[in-house]
Amino acid sequence: MAWVGSALGDAIGELAFQGLGEAGLRAEIAQRDVLTYTDDTAMAIGLAESIIQVGRLDQQHLGDTFRANFKREPWRGYAAGPPTVFRLVERCGMSYSEAARSLFGGQGSFGNGAAMRIVPAGLFYYNAPDLYEKARVSASVTHAHPIGVDGAAVLAWAVAQAVKLDPQEPLPFEGFSQSLVDFARTPEIRDKMTLVRTLVAEDVPPPDVARQLGRSVAVHESLPFAIYSFLRHPQSFETCLFCAVLNGGDRDTLGAMACAISGAYLGVEAIPQAWREKLENRAYIEDLVLTLAEMRN
Ligand SMILES: [Mg+2]
Repeated sequence: MAWVGSALGDAIGELAFQGLGEAGLRAEIAQRDVLTYTDDTAMAIGLAESIIQVGRLDQQHLGDTFRANFKREPWRGYAAGPPTVFRLVERCGMSYSEAARSLFGGQGSFGNGAAMRIVPAGLFYYNAPDLYEKARVSASVTHAHPIGVDGAAVLAWAVAQAVKLDPQEPLPFEGFSQSLVDFARTPEIRDKMTLVRTLVAEDVPPPDVARQLGRSVAVHESLPFAIYSFLRHPQSFETCLFCAVLNGGDRDTLGAMACAISGAYLGVEAIPQAWREKLENRAYIEDLVLTLAEMRN
């Protein structure tokens, strides 16, 4: 249930924007009846729905699904990029990938929006030899820049590797973290993955790490801190989550990305049941997870 973990990271990360410490955030979670997710999980739902309906990734169908879900729930905290893509498709008759490529002066976006939603694809294609290409197809509906694609691909890879590991065994840090370096194809992501390895190995504390890795919504300035949070706290979903969301930056997405890997590695039992029960639309998300798993087998 990597994805339930990711959705909770998203919802709790959003609460963390109130600037609370860990105790305050725990109290806030406890007093909520529902933990409400944001665009990260809304788009992951769209990705899962599209894969389930088509049986594979199809850019037109995926884009149409994202667009329909955005129109139904535009209040989920979307950044400017996806709605701009949707407008260009509607008004100018572009394909989604053409519209996505036209953003930012023709370079496309390298925001973290393609990575934040990649979990269902990482789980569905966890054994696919062309996982990178799958991530590219998914990403380039809204994020055409090679760094935006690369971030999504590296997170898909991390989730796909984590779900194959036995959480009863210590995380094979060397092999796991090196595989992230090797899977990256842009210098921006690869260099950060190398730096993450060093920062975890040298036990550098989170505030210093956040300063070094970046706190923006660019994927090479947010995904690395999410991966650091997991690698520093591989055996505790809760500690990983609090590390990801309590050190500034794009908190909901940091939570979504870090907890995607943590949930994949540790499994659903590692996630506090009281949190799981409060997750908005949990039954629907769990249904999508099970359907994807059945289709994969
Ligand atoms: Mg969000």
